[in-house]
Amino acid sequence: MGEDIKKTFHKRLFIIYIFALVFGFACVLRIVHLSAFSNEFSNCKDATADDLIADSTCNCTIVDNKIEPIRGEIYDDKGRILVSNYSVFDLVIDGKKLMYKFKDVKREGFYYNDQTEIKYTDNRAIYNLIEELSDALYNRFSSRYNYPKSYYTDKLKDAILKGKNVTILKSDRNSQKSRLTSDDTSALNKLPLFCSKKLKVVSFPVYYRRFYPYGELAKRTLGNINIQNKEQTGLEQKFDKELAGQKGSKKFIKMNKIKVPLEGSTEPIDGYNIKTTLNLDIQYIAYQCLMDKLLTNYADWGCVVVMETKTGEVKAITNLTRNGTEGNYYYTEQFNYALRHECEPGSTFKLASLLTYLEATPDDSSKSYHLCGCDIKGQFSNRKFDKCYDSDDAGSLHRLGAPIEIFQRSYNEGTASMVFSVYPKNFKGYTNKLDQFGIIDSLPTQLGTIKPPTIRRGAKDINTFYSTCFGAGFKMAPIQTLTYYNAVANNGKMIRPIFVKSITGNDGVIQVYETDVINEQIASPYTIERAKKYLHAVVTGPHGTAKKYAEFDPHFAGKTGTRDIWDPSTNSYLKSRNSASFCGFFPFENPKYTMIVYMYNIEKMSGEAVEVFANIAQKIMNIENFSTLKEYEKPQTNPIPVLQPKKLDQKMTQNNVLIQIVGMNVSDAIFELSKFGYKTEIEGRGVVKQVQLKGKNIVHLTLGSGS
Ligand SMILES: [Zn+2]
Repeated sequence: MGEDIKKTFHKRLFIIYIFALVFGFACVLRIVHLSAFSNEFSNCKDATADDLIADSTCNCTIVDNKIEPIRGEIYDDKGRILVSNYSVFDLVIDGKKLMYKFKDVKREGFYYNDQTEIKYTDNRAIYNLIEELSDALYNRFSSRYNYPKSYYTDKLKDAILKGKNVTILKSDRNSQKSRLTSDDTSALNKLPLFCSKKLKVVSFPVYYRRFYPYGELAKRTLGNINIQNKEQTGLEQKFDKELAGQKGSKKFIKMNKIKVPLEGSTEPIDGYNIKTTLNLDIQYIAYQCLMDKLLTNYADWGCVVVMETKTGEVKAITNLTRNGTEGNYYYTEQFNYALRHECEPGSTFKLASLLTYLEATPDDSSKSYHLCGCDIKGQFSNRKFDKCYDSDDAGSLHRLGAPIEIFQRSYNEGTASMVFSVYPKNFKGYTNKLDQFGIIDSLPTQLGTIKPPTIRRGAKDINTFYSTCFGAGFKMAPIQTLTYYNAVANNGKMIRPIFVKSITGNDGVIQVYETDVINEQIASPYTIERAKKYLHAVVTGPHGTAKKYAEFDPHFAGKTGTRDIWDPSTNSYLKSRNSASFCGFFPFENPKYTMIVYMYNIEKMSGEAVEVFANIAQKIMNIENFSTLKEYEKPQTNPIPVLQPKKLDQKMTQNNVLIQIVGMNVSDAIFELSKFGYKTEIEGRGVVKQVQLKGKNIVHLTLGSGS
């Protein structure tokens, strides 16, 4: 090669070198520029999805790693957790990263731990490592996953020897057992290979699950969230916007092998927390008392709603549906019956009719009506009233009775006679009056708007008018009945039932839901005052359908309802099957709570519902009285030593239930305990670790993570 050619060659090489330098510098500048001024990314393809799309204009890709926020928690009125989150993990080994530096360039070895390296040529060391890891994984997970040790060995061989990306364990989202917890991940991170910080190839993808420490309690109202198919119900659905939070994003620009984090990445904003109006103690009482009665009556379903009279705050809402077969059945929360038009109101609707009557009848005490229907039978062409006997027997209903007797005895004919006397042949006048009271309106709530009762307002026939007077032939949600009963208890002021009291974020309260007045005075104070006396007479009067509870503490007032069950298959009422209900308030003298009890398809009558009402009322007043004493008296505790988890192979009995529930998930434990009448207190999260009997029937459960 000649001297000149050499020179020229060097010159050219120099020019190329300068060009490369300038270009390289420009590239760096461009990257710095891009990362500093992220609005200039219009040229780049934003690969916010998993797959990356290269862009020809700047030869770069923007990767957006979405960061999931944590969903908000749901609390009761005293701040006790009703719905929380916990995380479960998968176990993944990236064998490809372990084996290859880049595309096809193999590593010579990898780190056993941060001190020791294993060469790929050292077969013995590699087989020892696989053996050691399979042992550790098998020992830790054999009780939770049905895999033999060879399963782990094979998976590890795929990852370490074949360089594959391998998922070794997956948490089963539907199982309480087959899952990895944070206890597992921290233990696994101590194993060889797993612990190496120099080359991280083991990862634990995380999934959040909703956690209900109190199991079935109010579950239908709290609602469900299914992350996979986005199916939601209850408060989880209606307050999804508040609970969900906002995804964060961390953007990178990717150019060849270089990955530069961009400025302006946003942190996820965790969801807000929701404080409900529910009270865990009252909720538990309502659940348990209803459950007992449903079980003994083999009811199809039942619901109870307890509302604070002055504020409209729903303190308990329980909806239980029968599952299983006769002889082996149980109840779970599946439908929010309290908020749905599943049933006829029945005789509880006589309060609505009574209000229309009293408004038009200033002097009701001097009135009387035939108990049999003789006052109104002339208005019907072919309806028969069978209750007239031409005798003076005590059993004869062909006699006159005062309105308050008719109301106590809950006579359909007498009630219709009262209404017909003030709205003769005037169904429209009657329904207009009900409208004016706000009783047959739609009812917007935080859980959605409840449609108006299905009364056939346009009906011209007398039969529709007649049966509407006593709550038959149309459907109405139990909470609608509760709302106007509460208005009577609250001296005529109708307020909206509420389920959520406030929404809070990290910076404090975001929103408070105040008591919302629907109607300041649904009827005249004089009408309301008399209506209360009628309701009290149902419990204390000589003819009252709930007179068994005349001396009961607390004093209460209300109205029973018994309806035959409508059988759509025969298009007739089933005479031997009833829906039984009671709606009322307590204590009578100064109403604090209004409650409705509804049980569907039982053999017995409304007395069963009154019994549930009375039991719940008494228990609520007991804890109210107790909580005022609690300041001075600490309850006695009898500690039981820590028990070892046992398998659920024995039948639960009163004697062994406290031992059997150790190791169970908490909602199952509460359910088992409830069968034996235990009330539960909960501390911590996870599965039952320790059980203490406090007092006679309170069980304190200490929770921890399972293993
Ligand atoms: Zn008669």
